[in-house]
Amino acid sequence: MEAVMSVDDSGQGHAIRTGGQGTRVSGPRVLVAGASIAGPALAHWLRRRGAEVTVVERAPELRPGGQAVDARGVAREAIERMGLAAAVRAACTDTAGAHTVDADGQVLETFRADDDGGDGFIADIEILRGDLSRVLYEDTRDGVEYVFDDRIADLVQDADGVDVVFAGGDRRRFDLVVGADGPHSELRAMVFGPHERFLRHLGHVLAFYSVPNEFGLDRWLLEYQDRESGRSALLRPIRDATRAMAMFYFASADFDVDHRDVAAQKVLLRERMAGLGWLTPDILAHLDDTPDFYLDQVAQVVMDRWSSGRWVCSGTRRSARRRCPDRAPGWPWSVPTCWPGSWPLPGGTPTRGSPATRRGCARSSRPTRRSAD
Ligand SMILES: Cc1cc2nc3c(=O)[nH]c(=O)nc-3n(C[C@H](O)[C@H](O)[C@H](O)COP(=O)(O)OP(=O)(O)OC[C@H]3O[C@@H](n4cnc5c(N)ncnc54)[C@H](O)[C@@H]3O)c2cc1C
Repeated sequence: MEAVMSVDDSGQGHAIRTGGQGTRVSGPRVLVAGASIAGPALAHWLRRRGAEVTVVERAPELRPGGQAVDARGVAREAIERMGLAAAVRAACTDTAGAHTVDADGQVLETFRADDDGGDGFIADIEILRGDLSRVLYEDTRDGVEYVFDDRIADLVQDADGVDVVFAGGDRRRFDLVVGADGPHSELRAMVFGPHERFLRHLGHVLAFYSVPNEFGLDRWLLEYQDRESGRSALLRPIRDATRAMAMFYFASADFDVDHRDVAAQKVLLRERMAGLGWLTPDILAHLDDTPDFYLDQVAQVVMDRWSSGRWVCSGTRRSARRRCPDRAPGWPWSVPTCWPGSWPLPGGTPTRGSPATRRGCARSSRPTRRSAD
């Protein structure tokens, strides 16, 4: 594998390239924006079908963070078809179960990983979003060109291809450009118009970040929910036993914090979590030293079409349709889409629901067709 670094005149947008070189194929040249879940999963399938794939990621490296993703049902089938079952298993969280607790930490309910034959609250295969992203990246990095710390600044398509200008200064031509750059997709904005037109806020806000495991977590997830305010906090054990993954939820009628303004997001989280009991103050105390803070609204992307000529939209689907109607408010069913969805299987897999509602939701979870809503 080769790695090349170049810096443009302004010193901005230096691209870090990995993989791809030396493995040129004669298939269509496809540019994918976003190296999270959808991007690398799509790259896997495109490469298998003979395409020459470049993935451009805005972040300087793979982004860590996020909660666990279940690999059951259609997701498990996709993992197997991709030949990734062993790699995913090796990166699994190995969570034993979950306790819901009251403000004093007293256990209210317990859910074991082997409940419902391993298809209960804790699936027998669950993997942190960041680990899944890494598995997909490791799988594709040698046959796919990854360009980190860069993004598409402009693109113009004609009948035969798309001319792309990268923020780092490169100009290249592709046969197809795919936006897998998340719910706030810049590509979608460039091609179809402003986010406000497509992004529907669903009234929920979630934050995730890792903290030192100073809470004595040992393979058991803990969830506290404040029934009065509907807010909740959660601590999840992860493979690195010295750390834990924290999550906060609150309802919000609107959401106007810039998705890139992490400082403002932290201010918002502190405000909205004020007065929440249990271990909340201790978890919030790590807001400024965590390496992987992520906060976003739960949103639905509504579009009446997914492509425009040689540009196609892939990826994020935070489906309203798949939300469990009787679930605790803190738990949207985010569905990583192109993982394993759009190529080649429809649907995806939900991330964790509340223990309190998870069992019912799990039963209602079915593969759904890929659609704009
Ligand atoms: C760090 C992180 C943590 C998350 N945690 C959770 C979670 O715990 N629970 C949950 O339900 N969902 C979470 N999500 C969202 C979840 O990953 C997606 O909803 C779902 O997996 C679909 O994935 P995606 O690949 O389509 O988009 P995303 O996962 O949103 O990834 C989009 C990728 O595109 C990159 N990108 C953005 N703009 C550009 C650009 N202009 N050019 C190039 N690249 C760009 C981003 O850096 C990111 O890597 C998280 C997302 C991220 C990025």
